[in-house]
Amino acid sequence: MIKITASVILKHGREASVKRFHPWVFSGALQTIEGEPHEGDWVEVKDFKKKTLGFGHYQKGTITVRLLSFSAEMPNEKIYSEKITRAFRQRLLTHVINEQTNCFRLVHGEGDGLPGLIIDVYNGIAVMQAHSLGMHRDKEWIVNALCQNLPESVQAVYYKSQNTLNAKTENEYLLGMAATPHLITEHGNKFYVDWEEGQKTGFFLDQRENRKLLGQLSSGKSVLNTFCYTGGFSVYALSAGAHLVHSVDSSEKAVSLTKKNIELNGFDSNQHACFAMDTFEFLKDKKDAYDVIVLDPPAFAKHKDARHQAMKGYQRLNAEAMKIIKPNGIIFTFSCSQVVDKQLFYDTVVSSAIQAGREIKVLQHLGQPADHPVSIYHPEGEYLKGLVLYVS
Ligand code: SAH
Repeated sequence: MIKITASVILKHGREASVKRFHPWVFSGALQTIEGEPHEGDWVEVKDFKKKTLGFGHYQKGTITVRLLSFSAEMPNEKIYSEKITRAFRQRLLTHVINEQTNCFRLVHGEGDGLPGLIIDVYNGIAVMQAHSLGMHRDKEWIVNALCQNLPESVQAVYYKSQNTLNAKTENEYLLGMAATPHLITEHGNKFYVDWEEGQKTGFFLDQRENRKLLGQLSSGKSVLNTFCYTGGFSVYALSAGAHLVHSVDSSEKAVSLTKKNIELNGFDSNQHACFAMDTFEFLKDKKDAYDVIVLDPPAFAKHKDARHQAMKGYQRLNAEAMKIIKPNGIIFTFSCSQVVDKQLFYDTVVSSAIQAGREIKVLQHLGQPADHPVSIYHPEGEYLKGLVLYVS
């Protein structure tokens, strides 16, 4: 049973964003709190006239409440079953799950009405990550919801929140167990996923459709995949008939994961080479070596304070790639920093182009796929931006 321990009363006028289904209540919007909620408790959110607007998880900090319900009706734990079932149906409806793909993001936080919760499913195994104490405290209900509603799609649940919470928690199986690395299929390409050792939940599902597009443009080309991690883009390029692919990552672990995935798909060292190196160093002496270059760095800016420095990083990276790519080359460039919006990223890439001094066209704008949905009322959920560039 969900227990409501306090009422959070909003200042006059600050109810508007909640009425528009924005899931965050900022500390500045608070008039008062009736009761003494603990971190992670369920609380009721009310307007200045004390009319109930919804319910959510309380946490100290800039975001004081993350709303899961926008109705005056008292919620119960079935809310997790309802939202997870709805999210799963949406993945089926949009064909994210299909005969060629058995890995998908089942829950994308705010985009699925469950702020603070991420669940990625890798061929029967769910990897669950809490980014709020409320989700952490409700984890058993969430696992039950998965068991009851998706028994065929989820046979085990690994909980991995050690690095995402300000609370002591172990990474552990909450349901069943599974050996890693675990085999998944994405658009017919095979990958090993290791959620215990890997970054985030183990694999970057958000690039699925962009990898497919890269494949379509890679046939017969020499391709450079920088910041390769598990080698996703490299495998797609080779499967599509690239004649040579080079993968670069500063982490030895990532390079070894890439090698394994390349072998898993039946390719060898005649077609592929891996370099454990800093991308900026690697690019220095590679003039006219590649027809296609992928730039998919980690989030250079995780907070607004780091944004300026991050923009310099994106600017330099893109300029270097633009300078060295072969004539008539194609660059896939990305930013996954949430604090860098589409326009800022675009403007930065323009500045790189000016510095490189080459004729460049934008062929396509890229983003995140259907299993990483963005609530239209919560634009903050849009984090992945990309451009396909043609360099004459
Ligand atoms: N493109 C990948 C995801 C990239 S994640 C995919 O499709 O799955 C970012 C990767 O960049 C990490 O593996 C990290 O080890 C690597 N990295 C971070 N800084 C780097 C640098 N300066 N040079 C090369 N790799 C770097």
